[in-house]
Amino acid sequence: MSSAGLEIKGLGKRYGNSVIVDDLSLQVRDGELLVLVGPSGSGKSTLLRLIAGLIPHDSGQLLIGGRDVGDLAPEQRDVAMVFQSYALFPHLSIYDNLAFGLRARKVAKTLIAERIAPVAKALGLEPMLSRFPRQLSGGERQRVALGRAMLREPKLFLMDEPLSNLDAQLRVQTRAEIMRLHQRLKTTIIYVTHDQIEALSMGERIGVLRGGKLEQIGSPKQVYEHPRNLFVARFIGSPPMNTFPVKAAPPDQVAWNGQMLTVPTVRQTGIAPGTALILGVRPEHVFLKGSRWAIGAPPAQTITATVDVVESAGDQLFLLLELAANGVQLEQSPESGKATLIARAEPDFQVKRGDQVELWFYSDAIHLFDASTEVAIGPQP
Ligand code: ADP
Repeated sequence: MSSAGLEIKGLGKRYGNSVIVDDLSLQVRDGELLVLVGPSGSGKSTLLRLIAGLIPHDSGQLLIGGRDVGDLAPEQRDVAMVFQSYALFPHLSIYDNLAFGLRARKVAKTLIAERIAPVAKALGLEPMLSRFPRQLSGGERQRVALGRAMLREPKLFLMDEPLSNLDAQLRVQTRAEIMRLHQRLKTTIIYVTHDQIEALSMGERIGVLRGGKLEQIGSPKQVYEHPRNLFVARFIGSPPMNTFPVKAAPPDQVAWNGQMLTVPTVRQTGIAPGTALILGVRPEHVFLKGSRWAIGAPPAQTITATVDVVESAGDQLFLLLELAANGVQLEQSPESGKATLIARAEPDFQVKRGDQVELWFYSDAIHLFDASTEVAIGPQP
């Protein structure tokens, strides 16, 4: 199977005065699975449609396998697109739906059966090949649509939230199927989702989109551990990173909530005293006194908080905590109007609403962002 890489150079698309894709550049290696993730309206579908040639771009270049495809019609681009809504021929059996494209390309009958068998097996479609689309569930129909795209053996797969109509269990199964398919066939896949957990679990690289711009691209680990800005930091990760306004207090501290926290990044960046910063810390890096999940002993000075909500996720607890005022004016979160923070604990951690807890986190788990530009400060990998 011949697949190809994709190169996008300064791609732009507007609708009226709205910039939908904003001077976007991106390279996808031949055989790579790239996941594009972003909130609704960030331009993910539009980008896929531009690549497929379903809509024209206003500026920039699109190269598939090194060839500029800007002037090519969709069917000449050798790209298969899988959407969240599937279009099957209602009057044809599942087998005939799968065979349709191959017959159109005049592939020999025996070869068609040979090609369909492994795809039907991989997607669990074998028991339903003689049925008609109306006799299938939404999830099953989606798998047929995926099978049809696989049988086209395109140079490039574009998948637009292909699993969003499936229930949770089927989603996991079908996702594993796509990843196995990718490993086996080494096809280039661009996979779009709004679900950051799906993105983290699938991608060799993930690209984070916002407002038609690529905010960051890298391995899931890079993006999770070293978010380039506040948007990526809060969008990737669930529950999201805790963030608080703080002020720089050189040589090596920040003032937060009436306390001083040592953050080596302050020294490394030589930032001016009083500079407004955002401090970020992920829920799994907030340690609670008395929790088995806390690493190391509590420091001499801990942070006091009151438990507002305890939410069980089965294998862990999420605690929504309200920070105590420490005798000074609280720095309030602009979103909630309260200084709150989310922490995690083991499922049998004994805690209830209204309890006071002591917490701490280590300076190497702290992210700092410039409060005005929202860009991460400090050494980036
Ligand atoms: P996503 O897939 O990330 O949800 P889309 O690519 O569908 O985002 O949409 C990005 C933005 O472009 C949205 O604000 C949407 O309203 C706008 N948009 C998409 N298609 C059109 C269109 N045909 N005309 C005008 N605006 C559009």
